[in-house]
Amino acid sequence: MTLERTLSIIKPNIVAKNLIGKIINKFEITGFKIIGIKMIRLNKQQVENFYKLHINRYFFKDLVNFMISGPIIVAILESENAIKLHRELIGDTNPLKALKGTLRAEYADSYTENGFHGSDSEKSAMFEINYFFRKDEIFSGVN
Ligand code: UDP
Ligand code: MG
Repeated sequence: MTLERTLSIIKPNIVAKNLIGKIINKFEITGFKIIGIKMIRLNKQQVENFYKLHINRYFFKDLVNFMISGPIIVAILESENAIKLHRELIGDTNPLKALKGTLRAEYADSYTENGFHGSDSEKSAMFEINYFFRKDEIFSGVN
């Protein structure tokens, strides 16, 4: 069994709608172990750095403004195939394309305000986990 880690973000619109508990519960009943979690509010520079691969895209400014609009939940989810399974659970980036039953199909407000983030590869998961968590904030294999 190879455990994998992915970085999950519950974006500001979902936090504002008091849906944190519902989403976290969904993660747990789906089989993810939450091995790190915190609530934070990002500033412009932190969002720009997190999403730096998108810096030249037409939606970048809207994305940054949305992501600084309120607090978010960042969490590290652990399971076998965590990266792929988590992306499947949140659904397509475009909520109109997201399959029924996925989190974005159910809770997204728009393409930009699509509610959730999930790492898309092992490399990005490593960068994103290190971006938000120190080693002593990660609790793997302790319970
Ligand atoms: N986004 C957007 N318009 C687009 C594509 C992306 O507003 O046409 C936003 C959306 O919030 C998305 C984020 O930018 O979640 C990052 O885009 P990416 O392509 O990495 O999608 P994700 O990995 O989040 O599914
Ligand atoms: Mg992405």
